[in-house]
Amino acid sequence: MNDCIFCKIIKGEIPSTKIYEDNNFLAFLDIAPVNFGHTLIIPKEHFKDTLETPDEILSELIIVGKRIGGALIKSLPAEGFNLSTNNGEVAGQVVFHTHFHIIPRRMDDGLTHWPKKEYKEGEAGEVAEKIKKAIE
Ligand code: AMP
Ligand code: ZN
Repeated sequence: MNDCIFCKIIKGEIPSTKIYEDNNFLAFLDIAPVNFGHTLIIPKEHFKDTLETPDEILSELIIVGKRIGGALIKSLPAEGFNLSTNNGEVAGQVVFHTHFHIIPRRMDDGLTHWPKKEYKEGEAGEVAEKIKKAIE
């Protein structure tokens, strides 16, 4: 897509700090990192989100994510990492070109996790039934 910022990064039309590249994927530092070393991995082909991305590409993307996550732990002050993706505006997606975040984590990085909710009696089963029926 012409106006896609990540397609422009792939084409070299806007600068990025690359850390990995092969025929199908590019990884570069997020311009506004949650922690230093926060990396984005993208397929070179444009898809708007996870649902639109072919299974084979997604599988490979996760494997690249695993390799980069390992490299973050080896090279940075990091003991773990979050590998995640936002799908849809409501989930915080801002750039509509499939990307996974790899965020290096330290015990003392001060980040907190999601707030949690609680199911009432029977509710988890009802929710699970709806989801189970919709899996394609
Ligand atoms: P998301 O909210 O999942 O769509 O994440 C988009 C990410 O892209 C954000 O974390 C931004 O900081 C990052 N980002 C946006 N523009 C650039 C850019 N030119 N170079 C590197 N990262 C970028
Ligand atoms: Zn794109």
